[in-house]
Amino acid sequence: MKVLVATQKPFAAVAVAGIKKIVEEAGHELVLLEKYAEQSDFVAAVADADAIIVRSDKVTAEVVEAAKNLKIVVRAGAGFDNLDLAACTAHNVVAMNTPGQNSNAVAELAVALMIFMARTQFTPATGSEIQGKTLGIQAFGNVGRLVGAKAAALGMKVKAIDPFLKPEQIVAGGAEPAKDLAELYGTSDFVSIHIPATPETIGSIGYDLLMKMPKGATLVNTARKEVIDEAGLEKALEERPDLKYVADVAPDNLAVLQEKFGLRVFATPKKMGAQTSEANVNAGLAAARQIVDFFATGNTRFQLNK
Ligand code: NAD
Repeated sequence: MKVLVATQKPFAAVAVAGIKKIVEEAGHELVLLEKYAEQSDFVAAVADADAIIVRSDKVTAEVVEAAKNLKIVVRAGAGFDNLDLAACTAHNVVAMNTPGQNSNAVAELAVALMIFMARTQFTPATGSEIQGKTLGIQAFGNVGRLVGAKAAALGMKVKAIDPFLKPEQIVAGGAEPAKDLAELYGTSDFVSIHIPATPETIGSIGYDLLMKMPKGATLVNTARKEVIDEAGLEKALEERPDLKYVADVAPDNLAVLQEKFGLRVFATPKKMGAQTSEANVNAGLAAARQIVDFFATGNTRFQLNK
């Protein structure tokens, strides 16, 4: 089988070497397409691929249609909004992600962003400490749970909400369950967002929730920019000079926000939550193993389009 690694933003060399080893030891062939300039280069490269590993590369209907031999595509990472799942299903292509593999990297960044904002972006101004403050975690999945554990270790009180988990599961993960979003936002000095971008979550966090936050609160977003209602965010920051927003997924209106609100708003120049060599290696190797296992045994444990 031909396994194509198509990465506009390549994996670290050590990850590529590991992927190659796993694929070739299982008797398959590895083909690399890195730093491609145009989406059309990606479309051209998939013609004879049986499997594809991608990072944030866009697996569109055009890609799936051009890949006549394609059986499986794996997104090395957690979020999978770059995969057209309906197109995969229509062409009998199994689509997977590699949940959990880069969670620690994202969780460490979320904690770092909280401290960065509490210490006024490392300017000499008097900041505040996160110890003793309340952190509300919106979605208690792989990243959310790790953020909670790290925050608790730093002396924060941790609350969480997740509509797909029972309160007991949140307690077992070390957090206090919040009754609803109003309570989570209304009682948390920091809210850290870890929901996926879905039709239900897109644009779901905006003015109303932000206005409920306690004085001096900070909203931390390492999930997806689309979950924020940017006009609502701007309005809330305008009306509440004590609120702050920090993101690893820059809003489209970042320039306006920074001009208007200065040190109260920060976004990483490029999404970097999963950009650690450890996460790179973990997610890349997991993607390779999932493909090898799928061809050997038909294992579809991490299939997204079941
Ligand atoms: P996960 O799948 O482990 O957890 C997501 C959680 O969200 C689950 O517990 C689920 O129950 C909950 N959820 C699903 N739909 C929801 C909804 N409609 N409302 C509220 N909660 C809902 O994912 P994860 O690994 O924890 O990652 C969380 C998100 O972080 C990803 O979806 C991705 O968008 C983002 N992410 C960003 C980076 C980065 O580089 N900044 C890296 C990895 C993941």
